[in-house]
Amino acid sequence: QMIREVLSAPYDLGDRNVRLSASFGFAIHPFGGEEFDDLLKNAETALYRSKRRGRGQITVYSREIAQEMKRATQLEQALRNAIISDAIDVHFQPIVSLANNMVLGFEALARWNDPDLGFVSPAVFVPLAEERGFIDALSETLLRKAAEAALSWPRELFLSFNLSSAQLMDPGTSSSVLAILARVGLDPHRLELEITETAVMSSAETAHRIIADLRAAGVRISLDDFGTGQSSLGRLREFIFDKVKIDRAFVSRMNSDRASEHIIKAVLAMCEGLELRVVAEGIEENSEAAKLRALGCAMGQGYYFGKPADSAATLRYLQTHYFELGSEREIA
Ligand code: C2E
Ligand code: CA
Ligand code: CA
Ligand code: CA
Repeated sequence: QMIREVLSAPYDLGDRNVRLSASFGFAIHPFGGEEFDDLLKNAETALYRSKRRGRGQITVYSREIAQEMKRATQLEQALRNAIISDAIDVHFQPIVSLANNMVLGFEALARWNDPDLGFVSPAVFVPLAEERGFIDALSETLLRKAAEAALSWPRELFLSFNLSSAQLMDPGTSSSVLAILARVGLDPHRLELEITETAVMSSAETAHRIIADLRAAGVRISLDDFGTGQSSLGRLREFIFDKVKIDRAFVSRMNSDRASEHIIKAVLAMCEGLELRVVAEGIEENSEAAKLRALGCAMGQGYYFGKPADSAATLRYLQTHYFELGSEREIA
């Protein structure tokens, strides 16, 4: 505590006052490690924790941290095995026309059901795969599987696939995506890639190059989770997107909160002016679908229209929904 106070006292550098802040990590013998090397390593782990918590934090290497580290290592090992043994599958969720409920395409979503760990959310394992450098291998397998499934669909529906931010920093991404499409035989015009604003910002120049190359080949680009990022409006000015997906947060609050409805209206008006197609995400109720339809939103996605399902169930979904959906019939 004293060291921290001394360090954080302001320094007078002529015309400027500078304040240093220090983060600390401790590992205490014997729990924090028997040997000096272990102590040092664990103190470092504790230090990273301090830094992640913000400025000037102090962390002591604890049983909880040790457990978490162990779990993370297990998860990483299991993920590595799952990728090698091809145990990660891809499911599909319908994206429909709100005007007539016709299915227009599907979003591919990664699914991992581990025999030991159970169901692991892609929101957990995709970032881990990025962090550990597995994302290319994972994503290539998933795109190949998704593209193969798309070829078996009875109509030329579009396939929407999520690109991670690490992939938008890797200049090899555009050629690897196009190579997979060529190998499988899926027309690039049927592919849409979903990316988030944060992903575009993190490595702007490389990301723009990748997006331009893919668009030149006919692939469309969707801006995912719109409204949750930081500089939404500026990004749209760059004309690198074909479609905008309004985040589920706005849709789910639309019926209870006037502000969300106003935001959706504004987004729809803006996208019309910019000639961007719009999908509303996370539609769970008929009332939400009806309201979005009335506001003129072209497309919708959510549990109301269908949950993500494996490729066999997706084929059955298409058989039962193909003709019927043109009618007024409500979907159960
Ligand atoms: P996302 O791209 O925003 O995907 C939409 C998420 O919302 C999916 O979660 C989907 O199952 C869920 N969802 C769809 N409709 C509804 C609804 O009506 N209500 C609710 N409560 N949820 C709904 P999921 O499958 O768990 O995926 C989470 C995230 O993981 C995705 O968010 C995406 O960022 C990432 N992800 C999933 N698959 C992949 C992949 O193959 N590659 C990459 N890079 N990321 C992926
Ligand atoms: Ca998505
Ligand atoms: Ca989304
Ligand atoms: Ca997301």
